[in-house]
Amino acid sequence: MTVEAHKETLDFQAEVSQVLNLMIRSLYSNKEIFLRELISNASDAAEKLRFEALTDEALFEDDPNLRIRVDFDKERRTVTISDNGIGMSRQEVSETIGTIASSGTRQFVEALTGDQAKDSQLIGQFGVGFYSSFIVADKVTLVTRRAGLGPEHGVRWESTGEGSYTLETVEKQGRGTDVILHLREDESEFLEGYRLRSIISKFSDHIAIPIEMRKESHGEEEEKDEPEYEAVNKGSALWMRPKSEISDEEYAEFYKHVSHDFEEPLAHVHTRVEGTNEYTALLYIPKRAPFDLWDRDQKHGIKLYVRRVFIMDEADKLLPHYLRFVKGIVDSDDLPLNVSREILQHNRKIDTIRSANVKRILGLLEKMAKNEPEKYAEFWKQFGKVMKEGPAEDYANRERIAGLLRFASTAGEGDEQNVSLDDYIGRMKEGQEKIYYITADSMPAARHSPHLEVFRKKDVEVLLLADRVDEWLLSHLTEYKEKPLQSVAKGELDLGELEDKEEKKEHEEAAKEHKDLVERLKKVLGEDAVKDVRVSFRLTDSPACLVVEDYDMSANLARLLKSAGQEAPSPKPIMEINTGHPLVERLEAETDEERFTDLAKVLFDQALLAEGGQLEDPASFVRRLNDLMLKLAEK
Ligand code: ADP
Repeated sequence: MTVEAHKETLDFQAEVSQVLNLMIRSLYSNKEIFLRELISNASDAAEKLRFEALTDEALFEDDPNLRIRVDFDKERRTVTISDNGIGMSRQEVSETIGTIASSGTRQFVEALTGDQAKDSQLIGQFGVGFYSSFIVADKVTLVTRRAGLGPEHGVRWESTGEGSYTLETVEKQGRGTDVILHLREDESEFLEGYRLRSIISKFSDHIAIPIEMRKESHGEEEEKDEPEYEAVNKGSALWMRPKSEISDEEYAEFYKHVSHDFEEPLAHVHTRVEGTNEYTALLYIPKRAPFDLWDRDQKHGIKLYVRRVFIMDEADKLLPHYLRFVKGIVDSDDLPLNVSREILQHNRKIDTIRSANVKRILGLLEKMAKNEPEKYAEFWKQFGKVMKEGPAEDYANRERIAGLLRFASTAGEGDEQNVSLDDYIGRMKEGQEKIYYITADSMPAARHSPHLEVFRKKDVEVLLLADRVDEWLLSHLTEYKEKPLQSVAKGELDLGELEDKEEKKEHEEAAKEHKDLVERLKKVLGEDAVKDVRVSFRLTDSPACLVVEDYDMSANLARLLKSAGQEAPSPKPIMEINTGHPLVERLEAETDEERFTDLAKVLFDQALLAEGGQLEDPASFVRRLNDLMLKLAEK
């Protein structure tokens, strides 16, 4: 056995040092959270051992009583957090402690601005964890041994948090992990028993594994060889206690424990279900979206327990993907302890829990939207885009989800998404049957689109949609409360009762009157460019616009798909012209065929630009426009 063997010095990933520095600066005013984070990790490790020991009892070695200990040494200026949990192998240490394991870390670091106030906000999206040790310590030593491996397989990791760490194999008798913090000079407050105890009871009282500290010796009593320990926490699972006995602070602390978030949650729901499928669910909505919300591998935030025994993290079967921001626990009394991910896939009890969880979260959000609209607005800002995935993923609940959606609209000034479909319906004009919307790739493009002109004239509200997910949403949400959702850029404009007979008659006559112009335009633009040309009733100020058929993919969606590198059909547009516009009148009077063609093509290209499209031949557009401008100058 070669103890001391193979000591390596390794560099942190570049991102780790940056995140570390930021964390130390940002969390300094909150520095005692290091203890919560390390106790949280220790408790996870103990729970993992308990789970693995269900199938392999030998892992308990001869030490079945799981516990966490917090010690301090005034002379050496150390605080030590040790657990007899699962521990780590050398490989596990280098994989988990030397990296901040997430594919999104680089993006996160790139998002940092160097402005301390702004960046401190960002760290909140990251989640804290083991590295918070460096807030109070200038050197951290971690000694660990994986349960089941022999004492010679201990691993010692050490770092000052400045770019590198060392890793060596050592001997360790007991399984589990000791984290030894060598405190910075001005952190002596953590070398006091009462201070540590009070932090533990503030942050970690709900941890279900005993957290022990050495009994304080009183006066002349002799020092014993074997120090005596006593538990500092209550040691019962918080979610099993009656709601009435849990304070808001305790709920918040438990949230921080399960989520590694250092902010309070926005809201929670705690339920106990009795009967044939008994379980407890405690679910939280965070205040802030994590930076990796859009990461495909983003972890799900629900932990699954069976009769108080932790079974697995990231139990993604307990909530659908569009509610992936929810954190918390589900503790089932009726699932088997040996439940695996495969079993979860096809389990009726799990399906029932999942659909009840969805209803709980939707109910919580509905209540918030109704009673605390400002809080709901905060929620929407953080998670609105994710909620918009809901109607596509969760068809059964789509009407409820739709009720929770918020949009910008022509009724408001700013870009804020604060109009619900119910608000919209409440403001519908007499005779209006549809919910009108426009999609574009930016808010200004939506708000200034020529397609809105007639709606503005008639004072009919239109929802303005410019999030990438909106097209996806609308392809799955075609009506709400029996009112169809209608794109203002699709199909023949049918305003139904919003138009009176007179207007309809005028339209018919206008279409007849300008038949020749329409035919000429079709000819010069050609079938490759347009499907059809017709007289428009959408426009009041613009000379022309493009629309697609009702059943065609919207031009915006086609562009989105193409920019994402996907195959997409190019729906051929219909050009609509505003015969009341002076430019169109001028066009109609043009006898020179060549000039007519130039003008027509410029009109078409402009209409394409106005809706955010790209010109196939921009150089020709510029040349034609310049010719026209020169002629203007010649006059
Ligand atoms: P997080 O807990 O959010 O994953 P941490 O940085 O706190 O992030 O920890 C990283 C990983 O290191 C943990 O997921 C776990 O695998 C491992 N780890 C940390 N502390 C312990 C411990 N006391 N015992 C066993 N493994 C641990």
